[in-house]
Amino acid sequence: AEKVKVKNPIVELDGDEMTRIIWQKIKDELIHPYLDVDLKYYDLGIESRDATNDQITVDAAHAIQKYGVGVKCATITPDEARVKEFGLKKMWLSPNGTIRNILGGTVFRESIIIPCVPRLVPGWKEPIVIGRHAFGDQYKATDLVIKEPGTLELRFTPENGGEPQTHKVYKYPGPGVGLAMYNTDESISGFAHASFKMALNKGLPLYMSTKNTILKKYDGRFKDIFQEIYEKEYEAAFKEKGLWYEHRLIDDMVAQMIKSKGGFVMALKNYDGDVQSDIVAQGFGSLGLMTSALMTPDGSAYESEAAHGTVTRHYRQHQQGKETSTNSIASIFAWSRGIAQRGRLDNTPEVVEFADRLEKATIDTVQEDRIMTKDLALAMGKTDRSSYVTTTEFLDAVANRLKH
Ligand code: NAD
Repeated sequence: AEKVKVKNPIVELDGDEMTRIIWQKIKDELIHPYLDVDLKYYDLGIESRDATNDQITVDAAHAIQKYGVGVKCATITPDEARVKEFGLKKMWLSPNGTIRNILGGTVFRESIIIPCVPRLVPGWKEPIVIGRHAFGDQYKATDLVIKEPGTLELRFTPENGGEPQTHKVYKYPGPGVGLAMYNTDESISGFAHASFKMALNKGLPLYMSTKNTILKKYDGRFKDIFQEIYEKEYEAAFKEKGLWYEHRLIDDMVAQMIKSKGGFVMALKNYDGDVQSDIVAQGFGSLGLMTSALMTPDGSAYESEAAHGTVTRHYRQHQQGKETSTNSIASIFAWSRGIAQRGRLDNTPEVVEFADRLEKATIDTVQEDRIMTKDLALAMGKTDRSSYVTTTEFLDAVANRLKH
C-alpha cells in the first residue's frame, strides 16, 4: 500500500532503557511501514546527553519550537546512583524540565481508556484530561516557622517609587507557621490559552477550578483571567463545536469528577493539579495507559510522551536475558498524538486518520483480541502466565492488526 505522506517534519526525542527498546520497535513496525515522514532525530539517551554536555536536549527543544511537534521517549533523570552507573560528567537536569523551561506551556495528562480493563472508578468511561499550572503558588512560596509571639506582615514595594503597602497577616500569641506565595497575570494567561487550545483540540469541554470563595483576590484573579480570555478569544469557537467553559469550585469539581463518566478537560492550579493528577491516574489504573502532552499558550509547540518512566525494573530483567512484559500502549500513543497534531497543523486529514487507526489497532488488540501485557492482565485479576504476552509479542500483535 501507499504510505501516507506527512507534509512537515516531526521531532523525535529518543530515550532510555526499556522504553528505548519499545520506541525503536514502534518506529520499525508501526510508523515507518505506513508513514512517509521526515523525523528530526535527537538522541536523549543518557550517554548522548552526557557526551554533548546536555546540548542535545536544548537542541531538541529548539527543534520542537521550529517544527511545532515533538514525540518523546521516556528518559533517565540522573541521581547519584545513575552518575555512578554511567560514569556521568555531571548530574544532568531532568530533560523534561529543560524542555519545559525552553518551550513554556502546560502539561496535560490523559488516560487511555480500554473498556475491558477495569478502573478503580468504574463510572469513568471517557478520558479526563488534567492540565496543571506549573508555576508559582505553594511551589515557590516563602514559608516560615515562627518561634515566639509577634506580628507577621506582608509588604509590597512598587518599583516606580510609589508608596509601599503593608498588610498585617497575623499577630502570633505564640509559636506557629506562616507563608507568602505569588503568581503572575502573564503565567495565568498562558495557562488559560493552553487550556482553551487543548480543550478545542480534544473536542472536550473545559472546567477550571479554584477556591475563590475563600481566596477572593488570589483565586478570584485566576477565575477572572480565564473568563475574560474565554469571552474575548475562545467562546465562539467553543460554541461552534458544541463545547463550553465553566469555572467550578475545587470541592464541587472533585465531587463532580468522581460522579462523572469523564469526557472533559480540567485546568487546575499548581497544588490541586499535583494532587488530582495522581488521583485520576490511580482511578484509571495503569501507568502504562497514561499519556502526557505539553502545549504552549500560542499553540505553536506541542510535545507528547508516555507519562511513565523508563521502566528500569523490567530493563534489568531484559539485561539478564529474561523475558519482559512491558506495556507499550502509552509510548504508542505518544507517537499517535504527535502524528495527529502534525496532521491538524498541516491540514492533512489523512495523517490524523492514520493516527486514529494506530490508536484503534492498539486498543482493539486488548479489547477484541484480549492480547495484553502483564500489568493489564493483573488489573483484570489474572495471574497465570497464559493471560499475558511479552513486550515484543504485544507490539507484534498491534502491528498485525494495523496490517489488516
Ligand atoms: P517508572 O514509571 O519507570 O516505573 C514505576 C513503576 O510502574 C514500576 O514499578 C514499573 O514497573 C511500573 N510501570 C511503569 N510503566 C510501566 C509500563 N509501561 N508497563 C508496565 N509497568 C510499568 O518510574 P521509576 O521506576 O520511578 O523510574 C525509572 C526511570 O525513569 C528513572 O531513571 C526516572 O528518572 C525515569 N523517569 C522518567 C520520566 C520521563 O521521562 N517522563 C518519568 C518518570 C521517571
